[in-house]
Amino acid sequence: MRILIVEDELDLAQALARGLRRKGFAVDIAADGEEGWELGEIHEYDLAILDLNLPKLDGLQVCQRLRASKPALLILMLTARSRLEDKVTGLDLGADDYLVKPFHFEELEARIRALLRRDLKAREPILSAGDLRLDTVSRIVWQGKRRLDLTVKEFAILEYLMRHRGEVVSQETLIEHVWDEEVNFFSGSIRVHIHSLRRKLGDSADHPRYIETMTGLGYRLIGAEEH
Ligand code: CA
Repeated sequence: MRILIVEDELDLAQALARGLRRKGFAVDIAADGEEGWELGEIHEYDLAILDLNLPKLDGLQVCQRLRASKPALLILMLTARSRLEDKVTGLDLGADDYLVKPFHFEELEARIRALLRRDLKAREPILSAGDLRLDTVSRIVWQGKRRLDLTVKEFAILEYLMRHRGEVVSQETLIEHVWDEEVNFFSGSIRVHIHSLRRKLGDSADHPRYIETMTGLGYRLIGAEEH
């Protein structure tokens, strides 16, 4: 899951980014409305955290523009104002939820998880493929009765492949959703993560039961029926 934080209070933005990265999200930060709008246009974010009071372009305008061009993007507004009309305007303009500052990180994380859960159709909380089960809320993966110990990146890659089970997912798409700007240029490392994911699954590139390599195209998750 890749998250965009649009917030001009840089200390806050960086603290949130650190916390969210520790929880396994890829996170980018934009320091003003214009940059937020631009990043939102360029990358495929799953969720945007949007401050209401921003320089250059205010949060409501960014919200309106992002909503128009990215209908599936989840938008969580942050506001220091607790006035009802701001919340209502934000929700009218397409925000999915809002949070009043100041808030605890745990509160933000709970709202994000709730939004991702609410988006049930595309984002079932429990994903399964063959004998694999991945719980996106507790972040646990089971292979049959065995619990897998995955790194944050391996989990993110597997989650994305499971959400798009049967589809060919290119390396570029994986980079878009699983990496953030800071590490994008290490794209070669996707192969390394896939390799180690396969090892933990007991899978092999030559005779794949889970992750198939489509040469020149990307990867495809196939559901192995038994282990
Ligand atoms: Ca602000």
